[in-house]
Amino acid sequence: MIPDPLMPAAFFGHGNPMNALDRNRYTEAWRAFGAGLAPRAILVVSAHWYTNATAVTAMNRPRTIHDFYGFPDELFAVEYPAPGSPELAAEVAEVVKPTGVGLDHDSWGIDHGTWSVLVHAFPDAAIPVVQLSINALKPFDYHVELGARLAPLRARGVLIVGSGNVVHNLGQIDWARPESGFDWTRRFDEAARETMASSPGEAERLQEHDAFAQAAPTPDHFIPLLYLAGLASAADGPADVLIDGYAMGSLSMTSFTLGADCHLPLGQTDGSPELPRLPADETNV
Ligand code: ZN
Repeated sequence: MIPDPLMPAAFFGHGNPMNALDRNRYTEAWRAFGAGLAPRAILVVSAHWYTNATAVTAMNRPRTIHDFYGFPDELFAVEYPAPGSPELAAEVAEVVKPTGVGLDHDSWGIDHGTWSVLVHAFPDAAIPVVQLSINALKPFDYHVELGARLAPLRARGVLIVGSGNVVHNLGQIDWARPESGFDWTRRFDEAARETMASSPGEAERLQEHDAFAQAAPTPDHFIPLLYLAGLASAADGPADVLIDGYAMGSLSMTSFTLGADCHLPLGQTDGSPELPRLPADETNV
């Protein structure tokens, strides 16, 4: 009997929540990635469920969470009505033992780190979605190791996704440069790419990079990358860049895939993102 092929995995740089409503080269890349896949369920580690415990959503009907402010009503109207999967939640808790994972029946749901990407990658919202929280109390190597422990789920048809940004510094956003990055943004992003290509199992060492404090003044958007790093390490293979780019100086939009055979249409990597301008003091990206 031929074993099932491993489901790919990914890290998406989600950026501005308005990407949920836009069509730009990033959202087209997310679409291209999802279009070739039919996972049984999707497990997402989102920057926006950053809390003091390790938990998975275990409800049948997760709510769509609009966890931002200062955005147009149109964005608050977005719903991503994918079902949950208590079965997958139980599998996650089992597969990562002895690491403890709590089952969340009623507090979280599907936050915008997840749905702003999935509305493009899986627009039908028909595939069950489960979120795994980021335990803010744990060191980086905990997250790399937990990512590696999730690896067996890839052989069971589960798509594992991290959603954050390699570089995410809202305090230094520069609206005058919508499509470029500061020198330190680029340097840190390039270091992350090199690590993901050559030694993903050592990704926690990126915190020693001289630009880390600027790139991740809070680590919530960086940590989801560590889950893909753990999966890449478990698979003994490099992660590939799906699409790259910078936004507003202090954001990196780089996305990575693992085990995916995803080719973007010609020209996709040469276009420009079309990020809307919003007052910096009214956003919570
Ligand atoms: Zn975010």
